[in-house]
Amino acid sequence: AYGPTLVACPTCGRTSIDLPAIAAEVEKKLAGVAEPIEVAVMGCVVNGPGEARGADVGIAGGKGEGLVFRKGEILRKVPECELVPELFKEIDRIIEERKNQ
Ligand code: SF4
Repeated sequence: AYGPTLVACPTCGRTSIDLPAIAAEVEKKLAGVAEPIEVAVMGCVVNGPGEARGADVGIAGGKGEGLVFRKGEILRKVPECELVPELFKEIDRIIEERKNQ
């Protein structure tokens, strides 16, 4: 296993969160994860999930609230401050699911 991979969107005029800060926080927390999993941190809710459909799991930022998604499929809307904790909850869930397969 090679561990997790982090993808962050290149950002653009649509970016509605502090993407570098969130990506840095996610990267730091991913250091504690050994599972090979592709994680996306995207700057907007409109295009983020679709642009990251190749990733196992991801978050997309919005004003005040954002989205958690898997393989481009939106799972739920969460407050902006919960984005990173919710992402890691979902990562734990995926690891559990893989174990039970
Ligand atoms: S995900 Fe949104 S913010 Fe990021 S590059 Fe795509 S359109 Fe721009």
